[in-house]
Amino acid sequence: MAELERFKLVIGGKPVDATSGATFRSVNPYTGQAWAELADAAPVDVDAAVAAARSALTGEWGATTGFARARLMRRAAEVIAGNAERLARLEVSDSGKLYREMIGQMTGLSSWFHYYAGLADKVEGRQIPAPNPDYLVYTRKEPIGVVAAITPWNSPLLLLTWKLAPALAAGCTVVVKPSEHAPASTVAFAELFDQAGFPPGVVNVVTSQDPQVGAALAGHPGVDKVAFTGSTATGRRVAHAAADNLNPVTLELGGKSPQIVFADADLAAAANGVVAGVFAATGQTCMAGSRLVVHESVHDELVRLVADRAATIALGDPMDPGTEMGPVANAPQYAKVMHYLKTAQEEGATIAYGGAADAGLGGLFVKPTVLTGVGPESTVVREEVFGPVLSTLTFHDEDEAVELANDTAFGLAGAVWTKDVHRAHRVAARVRAGTVWINAYRVVAPSVPFGGYGQSGIGRENGVDAIEAYTQTKSVWVELSGGTRDPFTLG
Ligand code: NAD
Repeated sequence: MAELERFKLVIGGKPVDATSGATFRSVNPYTGQAWAELADAAPVDVDAAVAAARSALTGEWGATTGFARARLMRRAAEVIAGNAERLARLEVSDSGKLYREMIGQMTGLSSWFHYYAGLADKVEGRQIPAPNPDYLVYTRKEPIGVVAAITPWNSPLLLLTWKLAPALAAGCTVVVKPSEHAPASTVAFAELFDQAGFPPGVVNVVTSQDPQVGAALAGHPGVDKVAFTGSTATGRRVAHAAADNLNPVTLELGGKSPQIVFADADLAAAANGVVAGVFAATGQTCMAGSRLVVHESVHDELVRLVADRAATIALGDPMDPGTEMGPVANAPQYAKVMHYLKTAQEEGATIAYGGAADAGLGGLFVKPTVLTGVGPESTVVREEVFGPVLSTLTFHDEDEAVELANDTAFGLAGAVWTKDVHRAHRVAARVRAGTVWINAYRVVAPSVPFGGYGQSGIGRENGVDAIEAYTQTKSVWVELSGGTRDPFTLG
């Protein structure tokens, strides 16, 4: 067996063991072998990480200007780009993501740091009109404080970056708790901030195989803000824990996003978008376009196009540049996907393609799956599978398309495929989701807000406004006249 790579906690700028000395292993979902050993933190280590973050906030980092933070962030962007290959390999080993996607994604993380570096020196308060000329009033935008960032296994570094970049720009410090299923890349990533010159304690990482460590961080009294990406069920628990401390939360949760295809759409482009939406990353993306809502007149043709492409998807080694779909990222998730496939069949779904594990490859490989003959009440249509499973519904007219698209508790994303420009914008406006693509799917950028309606979350990440989630406003009143006032009246 190959030697295990070792990763410690990152607390106060230093790699440290868990207080207990305990460790756990990360399994490569492609090989099925443990490849990394990580420190297995307990709540006492969370205390230490939060204390380090607090001390950085009240120390050197707390005194930095936005200009200085912008410079550090640009340096971090360069260090990250320089380490993209290593980070990509770690993501592949941890969660079976495709190297060909990860190398681009890791290089692309820099653009988030450049974007928020551009905002770091523009976080400004303003002068407020005073009720009478005796006062000067202005606001200060101050960092909200110590941020708890809790991330899932499906895109650990991208989803961490969506929190970290605005938090650092605002002047916050961060304690990250990555998923127990994909923890290693986050440790390597955090170490890069030391190389970029960030003071110790600004970026801390606690890894653990115990989800209770995430709970301890979310509810920690030393934390000022919680930013979470993960499942809706856990998000609800995180929100409860944060509420006990009256802390604000940003929650990016699950989805069941519709791809609405009208009869006049470019069907080849739509089929390509549907494939990108649900089979890329083995369907393990929050924004997966897992419900195809297609006009009845083009249903058969579109399903054939998607199923034909699904049949040619190259499954295999995520490191191989020719591979298009890797394995499911971990054994519990594989069991979940297989359970949904069984339930779909029990509920009468027809399999246009796939519907089973890939017997040839074995392991955690599931065939890309296209289901038809499902109704709006089918389990596979209502619940997030988080795997390569597309469910198809048909509609008769535009109102029914919108009704079906919105018939979900989630509201993360969706797409409209049509050549009719009026219809495209009309329907985009009616879809209840935080992101709607028109004739496109699965594009994100630092400048574009991302987040969910309904059970898909609270708040938005990315874009100019995301920085607001990491600042708070202080109003400062200055008495100008030097006179005294009646102490028994207000104002
Ligand atoms: P998860 O909810 O199981 O875990 C997410 C993180 O929360 C992990 O780090 C986990 O250890 C931690 N955690 C577990 N219990 C906790 C608790 N009680 N308190 C605090 N933290 C706790 O999610 P997952 O399985 O890792 O990720 C998949 C889910 O994430 C999917 O539902 C997917 O839709 C969602 N997701 C959403 C987005 C988005 O931007 N909206 C992006 C990616 C993934």
